[in-house]
Amino acid sequence: MLELLFLLLPLAFLSGWQTAKKRYKKAQSQKRQLSDNLVKGINFLLDEQPDKALEVFLSHPEIDEYTAETYLLLGNMFRNRGEVDRALKVHQNLISRPALAKEQKVAAMLAYGEDFFAAGMLDRAEGVFQELIKNSSGDVQACGTLRSIYEQLQDWEKAIEVSRCEEKQSGNDHSRIIAHYYCELAEEELEKGNIHLVEEYIENAQKSHKHSNRVLVLQGDLESRKNRPANALKLYQKAINNDSRLIGLLDKKLIAVTQQLGNIDQLCNFLKKLLVRTNDQKVLEYWVELTLRYAQDKPLENGLEDEVGKYASTKALLGIIKLWQLDQHDTKAGRHYELLSNVLERYLKNQTEFHCHHCGYKMNDFLWRCPACHHWDTVS
Ligand SMILES: [Zn+2]
Repeated sequence: MLELLFLLLPLAFLSGWQTAKKRYKKAQSQKRQLSDNLVKGINFLLDEQPDKALEVFLSHPEIDEYTAETYLLLGNMFRNRGEVDRALKVHQNLISRPALAKEQKVAAMLAYGEDFFAAGMLDRAEGVFQELIKNSSGDVQACGTLRSIYEQLQDWEKAIEVSRCEEKQSGNDHSRIIAHYYCELAEEELEKGNIHLVEEYIENAQKSHKHSNRVLVLQGDLESRKNRPANALKLYQKAINNDSRLIGLLDKKLIAVTQQLGNIDQLCNFLKKLLVRTNDQKVLEYWVELTLRYAQDKPLENGLEDEVGKYASTKALLGIIKLWQLDQHDTKAGRHYELLSNVLERYLKNQTEFHCHHCGYKMNDFLWRCPACHHWDTVS
C-alpha cells in the first residue's frame, strides 16, 4: 500500500504543477488585459474623450490594489476639473467592488463624499461622511469635511459636536474654532432677544477659548442691549486693544455707545493712543472719519494732519481734504478741495476695505470667517 502511494506521488505533483501553471497563466493574462485597458483608457483621456475612457475603466471586471489607486486618482482628477458626475461614477464603481481592501474602500468613500460636497449636494455628502465615521471609528478626514458641511449649513451645534470628535481622533486643538461656533449661536440668539441663551453660549465660548476677542465683542453687544453703554464701551475698547483690526467691525458700535455717553473726546483719545502703539492705518482712518463726523462741534485736532502725512492712506487723506473744505466755501481753494475729494471718492469706490490674509479674497465688510477659503480669523 505504501509503495502504491509512493508511485502516485509524481502524478499528484504533476497535477498540482499543471493547476498552478494554469492559474499563473490566467493571472498573467488578466494583468496584461488590465494594463492594456489602463493604457487604452489613458489614451482616451489624453485625446479628450473622457466618456470613452470611463467606459473602458468601468467595464473592467477585476481591480487590484494598484489599479484601485489609479481609479481614485482618475475620479479626483475629474472632480478637480469640475466634472463631478464623472467623478461620482468612478468612485461609486470603486466602492461597489467586493475585492477592495478596507483602506481603499475608506479612501473611495471619502472621495465619493468629497464629490457630493463639490457638487453642493451637502445632504448626500453628510450621509456618506456620517457612515464613514460610524464604520471607521471617527475617520479624521471625514470629520474635517463634515465640519465644513455644518459650517456651510450653519448648523453650529453639529459643527461643535463633530469638531470635538475630530479633536479626539487627531489630537489637534479646535478650541478657537469651537468658540466661534458658540459665538455664532450667541449672535443668533441675541438677534431673537433670548438673553439667557446668549449668556449661556458666551460662557461656553469663553470656556472653550479664554482669550477670544469675539467673546469680548459679544459681551459688549450684550451690555449695549442691556442699556449699559459704559460697560459696552470698555469691552469694545478691550477687544480693539487686543486686536486693532476689530476697529473695522466695531466702528459703528463705538459711535453708538459713545454718543449715548456723550463723550466723543474720550474715543478720540483712545484712538490717538492706539495709533501710537499699533501704527495701524485703519485706526488713523477711523480717527479722521470720527473727526469729520463731529467737525461741527469739535475743532480739527492738533497732530492729526501730521499723522495723515506719515501714512500712505488715501482714505485718511480724503478725510483731511474734506475737513479743509469745510472752511473754504465759495473760494478758489474750496473748489480745488472739492475737485480732489471727488476724484479720491471715485477712486475709493472701487476699493475694498478688507481682505483675507490666507487667500487674498477682498470684501467690503469685516467677517470672522473668510467666505472664499473658509478660514477663521484671517480677515482684516
Ligand atoms: Zn480666505
